[in-house]
Amino acid sequence: FSSRQTIGRFAPSSTGPLHFGSLVCALLSYIMAKREQGKWLVRIEDVDRERCKDKYADSILRTLEAHGLLWDGEVVYQSKRSEIYRAYLAKFEAKEYLYGCNCSRKAIKSRADHYDQYCRTRNIPLTEHALRFKNPGDIQSFADLFLGQATIQNYLTYEDPVLKRADGISAYHLAVVADDIEQSITQVVRGMDLLSVTPLHIQLYKALSHVQPSYAHFPLAVHSAGVKYAKQAFSTPIDNNMFLQNLHACLEFIGIHHTRIPKTTASPELLSWSIDNWHPDLLPKHAEIIVSEANGIY
Ligand code: GLU
Repeated sequence: FSSRQTIGRFAPSSTGPLHFGSLVCALLSYIMAKREQGKWLVRIEDVDRERCKDKYADSILRTLEAHGLLWDGEVVYQSKRSEIYRAYLAKFEAKEYLYGCNCSRKAIKSRADHYDQYCRTRNIPLTEHALRFKNPGDIQSFADLFLGQATIQNYLTYEDPVLKRADGISAYHLAVVADDIEQSITQVVRGMDLLSVTPLHIQLYKALSHVQPSYAHFPLAVHSAGVKYAKQAFSTPIDNNMFLQNLHACLEFIGIHHTRIPKTTASPELLSWSIDNWHPDLLPKHAEIIVSEANGIY
């Protein structure tokens, strides 16, 4: 039960132009927020300045606009929010959830195939070192709006993740939770590739004594079994001139039969029809869906 207004978001990393899978994410998070008369925010996740480029952020925003996916409020850029992440690190520190770690990747690998909490009791100063979260590891399962009760059996649920790298860069887990709290996000819609990190995110909310958003993970768009669309590899960037075909392909992907899609030529009409006619029960119940130029979907 919640009387909160729905606030959804689309939070792409600006490591490349949008591809089909991320356009589906944008559309689905938009529909999910708007069918509850909510707000839909856009946040550019460019906290890793080496991998992210401003030109990709611009290209992503132009693609959203070309498809009529207009966000509420100002676009937020993670690269401008280091103060906020520092404040959140301080909150974790105050609650004694942080410890310094000076293990090299090699040292970690030589001991175990994932991080083994080696530095938890070594009292390494918090300055100039990577900072890890003392993960209580007691969340392995959560209620997903699309999947029902999801149980994750993965070392990520109990590993102590890095929240700040030794070079000072905030980790994705810290930035995403801090931003979702700061932006009052109530609903996170994202691809199944992030399912395994959700228990950790819930754990971070719990450590901060903050109410968590609801989560909804949708099937991945893949080229062939197991090969996902990624911005870096294999992905055909979205052609903005084909916005109608692209929206149709996305709507089919999320379970609307092509014969039901109205033959309008305007994206605002198509989007408002989608908000009224799409329902979570329509979403295919698969972990991944093969889409390719060859089978005509994209
Ligand atoms: N920035 C992440 C990505 O592009 C998504 C983060 C999220 O939705 O929580 O994969």
